[in-house]
Amino acid sequence: MTLTTPIADAVRRRCDALDRQWDHETPVLAQLRTMFSPGAANTVYLDANSIGPMPLAAPERMREVIDNGWRSERRRSWNTSNWLEQPRLLGASLARVLGSEPEDLLVCDTTSVNHFKLLCHALQATQRSVIVIERDVFPSNRYVAEGIARLGLARLRDIRSIDELPAALAPGDVAVVSLSHVDYRSSKRLDIGALSPLIRAHGALSFWDLSHSAGALEIALRRHDVDLAVACGYKYLSGGPGAPALMYVHPRWRRTGWPALAGWMGHADTFDFAADFEPAGDMGRFQVGTPAVLANAAMTAAAEIWAQVDPVLLEARHQSLSELIIELMALTGIDRHLELASPRLHGHRGGHLALRFEDASALAQALVADGVVVSARKPDALRLAPHPLASCHADIGRALLTLQAILTDGRWRHPRFAGAQR
Ligand SMILES: *Cc1c(COP(=O)(O)O)cnc(C)c1O
Repeated sequence: MTLTTPIADAVRRRCDALDRQWDHETPVLAQLRTMFSPGAANTVYLDANSIGPMPLAAPERMREVIDNGWRSERRRSWNTSNWLEQPRLLGASLARVLGSEPEDLLVCDTTSVNHFKLLCHALQATQRSVIVIERDVFPSNRYVAEGIARLGLARLRDIRSIDELPAALAPGDVAVVSLSHVDYRSSKRLDIGALSPLIRAHGALSFWDLSHSAGALEIALRRHDVDLAVACGYKYLSGGPGAPALMYVHPRWRRTGWPALAGWMGHADTFDFAADFEPAGDMGRFQVGTPAVLANAAMTAAAEIWAQVDPVLLEARHQSLSELIIELMALTGIDRHLELASPRLHGHRGGHLALRFEDASALAQALVADGVVVSARKPDALRLAPHPLASCHADIGRALLTLQAILTDGRWRHPRFAGAQR
C-alpha cells in the first residue's frame, strides 16, 4: 500500500534527499551497501540487532568450502586451507572497526561461552573473587556468572544502575566488572572511555559486551584501555545466524594464567599431541576445540567488508539513520502514540531505538506482517535497528509510514498478533 498524503510525500522527499546527499558525499558507503543482499522483495529490515544482513559473498564463500574443502579435499584441507587460522584471521579483519590491534581478537565459540572463558580468566589474573555485574543485563551474561559462582569460583555483586559502580568497587576485592556497552532493551550506552579507567584504578578488569554496538558504533578498545571484551557475530557484524563470536583480551592479560576451558586448539603446538597442556603464546590460547569451519566461511564474507570500513563514518551513518527515526516520528504524529524509550542523544544510544508502546509485541508482529521486520522486548519496547552499512534513509521512511498506518487503523489489535514472538 502506497500512501499519497501530503505527510507521506514529505517523508519520502526528506528520505530521498538524505539518501542522495549521503551517496554523493560518501560514495564509499554507497559502494559498501552493494556488498549486502537487499533481502526479500518489498521488505524493510530494521532488525540488525537480531540477525544482521547477509553479505552477498557469503553463499560463495560457503560453497568454496563445501565443494573444495569438504567434498574434494576433506581431511587434506586442514593442511591446504586456512581453516585453523580462521579464528585469528577473522579477528584481524575486525580490528579496525573495534579499534584494536589485529592480534588482540579471536573469533570462536559463542558470546556466552566466551563470557565464561573471560570471567574465569579475570578471576585468575587478579587472584580476587568478586564479579560485579548488572542485575538486569542480557540474561545469558548473568546465567554464566551465576554458574561460575555456583562452582565456588566467585561471588557476584549486583549493581542496579551504573551509579552504584563506585560503591561496588570500593572494598577493593573486585576481579572483574562485566558490563553491556549498550542495553539490549533501552539501547542506553555506557561510556567505555570513562568507566574502563575507573575500574582499572580499583585493580579490577573491565569486561565489555559489545553485542549491541560492534558494527553499529565506533569502538576504540585500545584507546580506552579496555581489558576484556566480547561481541556477538551475527548481529550488526553480519556473520550469519549462529555465527561465531568475538573475543578481545588486552595484551597485558594475554599471557597470564591458564585458559579456563583449555582444549587442544589452545595448545602451543596442537598437532604435537603432547600429554600436557601448554597454552599458546597469543590469543590462540583462548580457543578450545575445532573451529566451526562452515560458519567461519560465511563470516569471512562479512570480515572482508569490515576490513574496509572507517569506524568514524560508520557511526556518523548510524547517527543519521537513527536520528531520522526520531525526526519522522514527530513529522508523522507517531510520537503521539509511542514514546522514545532510548536516550535522545545519539552519543548515549547504541545500535537500536526503543519505542515504548503498551503492546509492543502485537505492534511488532503487525509491522512484520506488512513487510517491516522489527522486534519487541517485554514489557513494552518496540525495537528498530537499522544497519549502518545496509540500510538507507528510504527504509526508515517506509517503516515509519507503515507504522503510522497500523496505528491509525488499529490493526495491531487483531487476535492473530496476540501470540508471543521471538
Ligand atoms: C545477543 C547477545 C548474546 C548472544 O549470546 P550467544 O551465546 O552468542 O547466543 C550475548 N550477550 C548479549 C548482550 C547479547 O545481546
